[in-house]
Formats: sequence, C-alpha cells, structure tokens
Amino acid sequence: MNLISIFSKYPTQESCLEHLETVRWGDNPTCPHCRSDKVARKNELDKVGRWNGHACKSSFNVLSGTIMQKTKVPLQK
Ligand SMILES: [Zn+2]
Repeated sequence: MNLISIFSKYPTQESCLEHLETVRWGDNPTCPHCRSDKVARKNELDKVGRWNGHACKSSFNVLSGTIMQKTKVPLQK
C-alpha cells in the first residue's frame, strides 16, 4: 500500500482524509502530540480534517507527525 495509490482512489481531499483517519486511528483518533484520545473534529468547513486535542490544547490533522505533514500540494496529486 502506498499513499499515491490511496489518493488516486479518492476523488476529494475530504474522502482521502477520512480514509487516512480510518487507516491511522480506526475508531479511536488520538492526538499525535500527547497521545490523548480527548480529541474532537473541527467543524469549520474550511478546516476539513483538522482536529482539536483537548488535553494539550493543540490542533492537528491525520498527517501530523508523518512525512506528509510537510507537503503543500493537494492530497490528490
Ligand atoms: Zn495532545
């Protein structure tokens, strides 16, 4: 499994992120900063895939802490 083939299967950034969240976290998303499971998905439409970590008051997305975090290109590319 590689990321490019995953991205090519999902037509939107949102669906890519949802898939990656499932792969990385399953049913229990956790904060990459403090490993807490006290997290909540942000609801703002322009922040798809962003989460709030309540334990350490940080925000993150599914790519935080991975090599993909540094990429600025849209996920579909
Ligand atoms: Zn945290």
